[in-house]
Amino acid sequence: MTSPSPWDINRERMVEEQLIPRGIHDEATLRAMRTVPRHLFVDDAMASAAYGDHPLPIGSGQTISQPYIVALMTQALALKGHERVLEIGTGSGYQAAVLSRMCRKVYTIERIDALLVRARKVFDRLHYHNIISRIDDGTAGWPDEAPFDGIVVTAGGPKIPEPLIEQLADPGRLVIPVGDQFLQELQLLEKIKGEISVKTIEYVRFVNLIGIHGWSA
Ligand code: SAH
Repeated sequence: MTSPSPWDINRERMVEEQLIPRGIHDEATLRAMRTVPRHLFVDDAMASAAYGDHPLPIGSGQTISQPYIVALMTQALALKGHERVLEIGTGSGYQAAVLSRMCRKVYTIERIDALLVRARKVFDRLHYHNIISRIDDGTAGWPDEAPFDGIVVTAGGPKIPEPLIEQLADPGRLVIPVGDQFLQELQLLEKIKGEISVKTIEYVRFVNLIGIHGWSA
């Protein structure tokens, strides 16, 4: 047995101090957050801050979300393991990596090339082969691969993009921050037997969702 590295210790502390006390209880979510090496998804210069209780810059004016927010959005999808999940806003790749440990396949879309190039390198390094990614405006979804059992949008938009509601399976769950450019409601949309319900989970602040069904650049 090798002894735990300082990264492992920081990661365990993140789960014990930031996630569990705030109500993250889903075992699969906690397991994934304990597994994925978050420090590899930020620049080396910031690696020591990777497990802190805050978002961090990832370049191109974007951010990797605070660990608690990643866990909250992941838990809201209630994944069992068989699902195909769509993520809009790959960014660092961290959220996609967490999801990939808990479902069959992750499809992730990013609009900024440089970010996706870097995220893909980390997926390869970790051998996370069930993540498929592409560059596009994710507000239009990924029609060729729809429907998705879960959809998570990691940037904030003025409304829930209609194509994403259409591309959600039944039953299916979609999590998205909706609001203005300063504050959003983290909304959970559920599709069950043709019925759609929406509830607010939390107030959050995300970078802008830019696209035809989002904010204009
Ligand atoms: N899930 C990311 C969070 C990154 S921040 C992580 O774990 O690091 C949100 C990301 O959404 C940014 O990288 C931004 O470029 C991207 N984004 C914004 N609008 C988008 C759109 N319409 N389609 C795809 N990506 C988008």
